[in-house]
Amino acid sequence: MDCIFCKIVRGEIPSNKVYENKNFFAFLDIGPVNRGHTLIIPKKHYKNLLEMPEEELKGYMEAIQKVSKAILQGVNADGISINMSNEPAAGQVVMHAHFHIIPRLKNDGLKLWPQSRYKEGEAEEIKNKITNSLE
Ligand code: AMP
Ligand code: ZN
Repeated sequence: MDCIFCKIVRGEIPSNKVYENKNFFAFLDIGPVNRGHTLIIPKKHYKNLLEMPEEELKGYMEAIQKVSKAILQGVNADGISINMSNEPAAGQVVMHAHFHIIPRLKNDGLKLWPQSRYKEGEAEEIKNKITNSLE
């Protein structure tokens, strides 16, 4: 498949591999937010989390935890942020599922999310829209 991350899994494009097992592959992001910023991907091509079958998810989370602990210790970080963009509107650029595992340092100055406040009654309305859409 003509996908940059599929090519990385197959070794057709070089990467700095951090970890791999039967189903998952982790490698350094080429443009790190902080040193040690790692991408962890399923070896099989899925567009993003929304398209992944349930049976892949347990193993994915286990691999994410394993790699997160290694990053924390390996680069002597103070914390870990885990982020995934799903769909271009959310900032997804590479259309092969990937979590970013980002080592965080005290006072690294990163502010991820500008927050807002709900108006009176709005939170309940939004909550109902979401719960009514649960499958
Ligand atoms: P996203 O914006 O969430 O789709 O993230 C895509 C990420 O892939 C970016 O952080 C890029 O720096 C990273 N990236 C793109 N090409 C490569 C590559 N060849 N090796 C490592 N990381 C890459
Ligand atoms: Zn792919």
